[in-house]
Amino acid sequence: MRITKVEILKLSKGITVHAGPIKWLWVRLHTDAGLIGLGETYPSPGAEGSVVLDSLAPILLGRDPSEIDKLWADMFLAVSYAGWAGAELRAISAIDIALWDLAGKASGQPIYKLLGGASRKTIPTYNTCYDHLDFMKEPVRLAESLLESGIRAMKIWPFDSIARQTGGNFISPAQMKEGLQPLRAIRERFGDQMDVAMEFHGLWTLPCAIQIAQELEPFKPMWLEEMLPQDNLPAYDRLARSTRLPLCLSERLMSRWGFREVMERGAAQFIMPDICWTGGISEAKKVSTMAETYYLPVAPHNCGGPVLHAASLHLAANLPNLKIIETVRRHYDDEYLNIISPTLSPVNGEFPLPPGPGLGVELDNAVFKRPDLMIQSIS
Ligand SMILES: [Mg+2]
Repeated sequence: MRITKVEILKLSKGITVHAGPIKWLWVRLHTDAGLIGLGETYPSPGAEGSVVLDSLAPILLGRDPSEIDKLWADMFLAVSYAGWAGAELRAISAIDIALWDLAGKASGQPIYKLLGGASRKTIPTYNTCYDHLDFMKEPVRLAESLLESGIRAMKIWPFDSIARQTGGNFISPAQMKEGLQPLRAIRERFGDQMDVAMEFHGLWTLPCAIQIAQELEPFKPMWLEEMLPQDNLPAYDRLARSTRLPLCLSERLMSRWGFREVMERGAAQFIMPDICWTGGISEAKKVSTMAETYYLPVAPHNCGGPVLHAASLHLAANLPNLKIIETVRRHYDDEYLNIISPTLSPVNGEFPLPPGPGLGVELDNAVFKRPDLMIQSIS
């Protein structure tokens, strides 16, 4: 089998996910066998699409798509001026997902079987709360509605609006109380029935992060995610040493080289790669295997598009060291409709093993009828 055409697809209007419009890039790799592999990245489809067509398509055309590791290495070398990150690595991520989709379709297997098979019968999840219920205004109702559907873990970011007011440079006692309130209310109502991860989006300075972590300790959240920006890991060491709570890092770390130092330093207890950013399914699997050698569990970042959702479920089905996978019920219940089929939803709070062959999902026919769809290709 040979790759005969490299195609990019984007929607000029974007898709509304996590409560705002985001623009996606889809990549389709066509082959002489008639099979088409699907991949995805975001959020700058213009830049990522240019890398695909200008820099990476010439490497792919005419090649055997089953040689995933060699193709990855050749693509990474071709854009090595960019280091580990940027639109270059996101473009490679999308192509890598499409290569795995093709490998699955060619063999008639779901991707998780090609990764080494299932490590569990169902996949545990937590819900990231971009929800119709607001976690600041109605934390108890939100937690209750999740528990009713069988979901026993959730993620909230109640300190973000405070950080945006103070630049992350200070937090008053009243603001601390406000930030703690949703978790306090959930604990008071449901005890430890609901696990709660706290997300900070890298908005805080070190002294405030230390202060907030200490205040959160009695409430035992599942983890503290990205309290600081990701560019100075010795600062993370200081934060990690200042709290008994586990830190989670991070969708903003790119490739195995980006995760290496975090693991060596012991700065995080949970490892969170994003398949669409960190280098694809191949790279997320390698990062996860590396995490195993440091006795660290993995919680894949899955707060993006519909292909990421499917790819993340295949990875999560396979990983022996999976902690839990992120999902967003508003995405699979609502916003992925008419974009992908099937949308892949949980049953009694856990995800079934994803279907195949390959990703087991395809772009919906409705996407191809949208007036804002733009397609470009090189063959
Ligand atoms: Mg995050």
